Amino acid sequence: MPETSGVTRRRIGVMGGTFDPVHNGHLVAASEVAYRFALAEVVFVPTGRPWQKLRHGGDERRVSDTAPVNPVSPAEDRYLMTVIATASNPQFSVSRVDIEREGDTYTVDTLRDLAAQHPTAELYFITGADALASILSWQDWRELFELARFVGVSRPGYELGTAHLNTHLQTLPSDALHLLEIPALAISSTDCRDRAATGRPVWYLVPDGVVQYIHKRQLYRPGRPEWTAVT
Ligand code: ATP
Ligand code: MG
Repeated sequence: MPETSGVTRRRIGVMGGTFDPVHNGHLVAASEVAYRFALAEVVFVPTGRPWQKLRHGGDERRVSDTAPVNPVSPAEDRYLMTVIATASNPQFSVSRVDIEREGDTYTVDTLRDLAAQHPTAELYFITGADALASILSWQDWRELFELARFVGVSRPGYELGTAHLNTHLQTLPSDALHLLEIPALAISSTDCRDRAATGRPVWYLVPDGVVQYIHKRQLYRPGRPEWTAVT
């Protein structure tokens, strides 16, 4: 993506995720990339319907999983938790573009919408080592790289590298994809959900306000009817 001559474009980070719930691993990733790439802001974008998850007879399961059932909380709960988690940071904001778009969420649509909202900005899409390969191999990577630069961040348990990526990516300009080591936080939303479901603590894995929101809305309690809703 060319620089406009002599003018530094405003850099905006884009942190997409299911955020079910948002946790400190997401926040550290966004904060570290903002610092390292001198981003003016980072926009968190909760997914509408995550394309990686399929519906089977009313349940949500990961494509690769046979069990257990992995339902997604209502979009409005995931959005509000993300607002709560980011509210105290003046550089962080939350976008509703994905939850307001019909159908499955694809990164290319997220980036198209944000590029239209910020036509003069330079977008930096932030993604963990686990999600990098799937985003770049399942979608039209040419268009993705026309819309944004990509920053892949380290995540405990996953290899951060380009070896397993689409071989076409080896031909990209050197500033199209950056790989960045960040402080390792072995936190996942899956583990937070499991903890909440079995009465174990999520304190200090997610921001305090998110702990309270999970409790208030009784999220992740087994049998909660909204669990199977994809909204
Ligand atoms: P789940 O377990 O439900 O998949 P998750 O913890 O992976 O949840 P997502 O909402 O799927 O969270 O992830 C959003 C983005 O944040 C992805 O790019 C993911 O790779 C990245 N990410 C999530 N947790 C971490 C972490 N601990 N360190 C670095 N990156 C992370
Ligand atoms: Mg994930």
